[in-house]
Amino acid sequence: MSSDSTISIVWIYPDLLSTYGDRGNLLILARRAALRGLPVQTMEVRSDQALPTTADIYLLGGGEDGPQALAAQRLIADRGLHRAVAQGSVVFAVCAGYQLLGGSFFAKGTQYHGLDLLDFRSDRGPARAVGELGGPIDPRLGLPPLTGFENHGGRTHLGTGVSPLARVTTGVGNDGATEGAWRGKLLGTYSHGPALSRNPALADLLLRWATGYDTLPPLDDTWADRLRAERMAATAVS
Ligand code: GLN
Repeated sequence: MSSDSTISIVWIYPDLLSTYGDRGNLLILARRAALRGLPVQTMEVRSDQALPTTADIYLLGGGEDGPQALAAQRLIADRGLHRAVAQGSVVFAVCAGYQLLGGSFFAKGTQYHGLDLLDFRSDRGPARAVGELGGPIDPRLGLPPLTGFENHGGRTHLGTGVSPLARVTTGVGNDGATEGAWRGKLLGTYSHGPALSRNPALADLLLRWATGYDTLPPLDDTWADRLRAERMAATAVS
């Protein structure tokens, strides 16, 4: 956090990476911080602008293949996200944005370099994965199960330097067995929804990573809990 304790949050490339309501993740983080009286500054940085290198949280959303490839080229040329990660910023990335954090990914049949920030690579699966996605999250993160919606053609193969975010009980995620990845304060998922509206505890984890606070005051999550319960019941294996 900056010296005046303001949490700065950057939405990366709204012009390229903002499918399936992922920008809602920015609104949710800002709202959950503000409800705790934590000052927040949000910023949307278009792909023709340089990324700030010292923000607290960076968010990446989903994107179609073409915009995803362009985003990769611009982020690699910019290096701002690499600098931010090196100085300890939090990164939360969804779908195309998640794939971008790895070593490589496929878009429109061509392999592209990723940002090489996490140890995984993505290729294409036999069929597009579309539908509900969920499962228990890595117990070290202390979170309730993940619930979300996925829509992607890529599959992601994790290396040894990264941990899966969750085990898949509904949907496909990385490969039908695991979903998402995390290491340090970098976390990626295939979950849209937007992810943080369906997983408020995950939003709070990102805020705790950004602030260094061990706990945050609880909020009234009645509506989010109802949504979670409804979605989990709808996908429960009978
Ligand atoms: N273009 C990527 C894929 O299909 C990501 C899609 C998305 O972000 N929804 O795998």
